Amino acid sequence: MGKRIVIALGGNALGNNLPEQMVAIEQTSKAIADLIEEGHEVIIAHGNGPQVGMIQAAMTELTRSNPEKYIPCPLSVCVAMSQGYIGYDLQNGLREELLDRGIDKPCATVLTQVIVDPEDPAFKNPTKPIGSFMTKEEADKMVEERGYTVVEDSGRGYRRVVASPKPQSIEEIETVKALVNAGHVVVACGGGGIPVIHTGGGHSHHLKGAAAVVDKDFASCVLAQQLDADCLIILTAVEKVAINFGKPEEKWLDDLSAEEAKKYMAEGHFAPGSMLPKVQAAVQFAESKPGRTALITLLEKAKDGINGKTGTAIHA
Ligand code: ADP
Ligand code: MG
Repeated sequence: MGKRIVIALGGNALGNNLPEQMVAIEQTSKAIADLIEEGHEVIIAHGNGPQVGMIQAAMTELTRSNPEKYIPCPLSVCVAMSQGYIGYDLQNGLREELLDRGIDKPCATVLTQVIVDPEDPAFKNPTKPIGSFMTKEEADKMVEERGYTVVEDSGRGYRRVVASPKPQSIEEIETVKALVNAGHVVVACGGGGIPVIHTGGGHSHHLKGAAAVVDKDFASCVLAQQLDADCLIILTAVEKVAINFGKPEEKWLDDLSAEEAKKYMAEGHFAPGSMLPKVQAAVQFAESKPGRTALITLLEKAKDGINGKTGTAIHA
């Protein structure tokens, strides 16, 4: 029986640069097409770390080259650009792979904004390094002129850090829903979505880009809930989740209940910034409604995973 599945693609699904992305997307499209071929409805979300880093670095160089002519590009705009060029490759790669298999399904990317709370504690404690390294002088200038938060990064220089607030809801959800219900394959929430805040309060509908990045694992979880998906699949660089990861007593898990997951999280088994947000997102989704499950596995194992043959399944 076909399920509604939200897939969150990790960095390894997209590569680190443009030529790598072209190659990676072929493999990624095959993995996704396998699920569509089995009769599942698939919605694709993805990360954008290296891509948004590249765009941000390019825009910074542009401003540096001629500050009179080019003003700095807001981070929210850089995220929007990354959604555009990743989605462009993904929708074409998928469409081609599906047509090769005789499946005539339209594929499209929806530029997606996620609402974040301006009172989110993350704004008071920015943790996510972004963009190129700076000298002490450059860093001081950025702090003074633009109010950036800057940290010294393990002896390699100074970097800007931004907040990583929790996504509240997806602004374009009705558009995504309409397309999915009409049988289209949709790419949404790229890079965790463009973080925006409602300004003005009350009846104001104005959205303002936030200088922040949203974790794609959390954004995918919200997307899956708002689409009433049956399954959230987080595809990454490991086949399963482990406890005692990288230690002699390492143990790979086939199955994880929300209760166990919380215990392991408290014991510090999952690295913050990599596996922890995935397990947190998986638990949040599994607990959001009876019958919902999450799966964490390797990109190449998506089909085996959904058929219960591998990966770590997370359930309430
Ligand atoms: P993605 O780009 O898919 O989000 P990340 O690098 O952020 O990938 O997260 C996946 C990585 O998390 C794995 O490649 C693995 O090295 C690391 N990891 C940390 N803790 C664990 C754990 N307990 N079990 C499995 N993998 C873990
Ligand atoms: Mg990650």
